Amino acid sequence: MITFNVPPYEEKAMEYISECVKNQKICGDGAYTRRCNEWIEERTGTAKCLLTTSCTHATEMAALLAGIKEGDEVIMPSYTFVSTGDAFVLRGAVPVFVDIRPDTMNIDENLIEAAITEKTRAIVPVHYAGVACEMDKIMELAGKYHLMVIEDAAQGVMASYKGKALGAIGDYGCFSFHETKNYSMGEGGALLIRDSEHIEDAEIIREKGTNRSKFYRGQIDKYTWVNFGSSYLPSDMNAAYLYAQLEKADEINEARLACWNRYYENLTPLMEQGRIELPVVPEGCVHNAHMFYIKAADVVERTALIDYLKEHQVHSVFHYIPLHNSPAGLRFGRFHGEDKYTTRESERLTRLPMYYGLTMEQVDYICEQVKKFYTAG
Ligand SMILES: *Cc1c(COP(=O)(O)O)cnc(C)c1O
Repeated sequence: MITFNVPPYEEKAMEYISECVKNQKICGDGAYTRRCNEWIEERTGTAKCLLTTSCTHATEMAALLAGIKEGDEVIMPSYTFVSTGDAFVLRGAVPVFVDIRPDTMNIDENLIEAAITEKTRAIVPVHYAGVACEMDKIMELAGKYHLMVIEDAAQGVMASYKGKALGAIGDYGCFSFHETKNYSMGEGGALLIRDSEHIEDAEIIREKGTNRSKFYRGQIDKYTWVNFGSSYLPSDMNAAYLYAQLEKADEINEARLACWNRYYENLTPLMEQGRIELPVVPEGCVHNAHMFYIKAADVVERTALIDYLKEHQVHSVFHYIPLHNSPAGLRFGRFHGEDKYTTRESERLTRLPMYYGLTMEQVDYICEQVKKFYTAG
């Protein structure tokens, strides 16, 4: 069976984790956490990066920092992972879902303005598959209506929009290092803070509402409880696991892109025959091969395709059940405008195996099976 995902692993991780254990330095904010933060700051140009226990938690931090409260509205796509909604619902805010574009599966930037009300506080673009949303338009709207922009860049590490790293464009950016993502620490994430005046508040929220980060830097003699907060810092062992991959980030990225390009090339004839659709990467977007997906005609054909691939030893998966149709989405949020593409396109999409270590032979084999399905059917 060609599995759908194999979590990334770099050999150096063993050495780095052993070092943490031997030195008995396994708690948060150790040397590896600092290295990861600095690496991300350097690569993205963000003012500050703080490693977190997950992307979900990074988004929760962003919601707290943005001062999101009861009754506020937050604009986001419905075609996303639940965490995008959770972080704001926890603050009592209402997710206002806007339809996606069928080409990139990202929020349709041209539908956002009509969804803005007196209560709107933030826009949350989700960079699906590491392909950027139209950030120029989104930032322009945010400026015009004084809204915060919190990027869900869970899938966007090492991807960019017009030369700017995803996650470093909006006020806050959230990365995921879950084991299904391009770079992993098992469970983990990062919060990117664009403007330096928000760094101290972020450090306090992440450290249980204390100014302990300042204390560690020797800026104060004693640390104390200064604001609300929680515990969002991961163990340095997890950071050590991640850092081994960050050192090899370009290599990992190139290997993924090579697989992605091979898929695209192999499946182009099927697209040209109008049997399937392939991902679209607009000009100005540099993606990171987070996933390779194809779109079938409809949900019936997709189910048959997934079954066929499984019979032929290929594990493919689909997602997401649109949030606005889920029990929690119905309870907490609302859809603005017409659901023209969110449900329809989500039902057509299948993700093919994509991970660091997938071979060209495997990609060729998978594409052969897809082609056979369409020529037999
Ligand atoms: C993976 C993912 C998340 C959640 O990441 P965690 O690190 O598991 O919390 C959030 N949003 C999107 C779009 C994701 O793909």
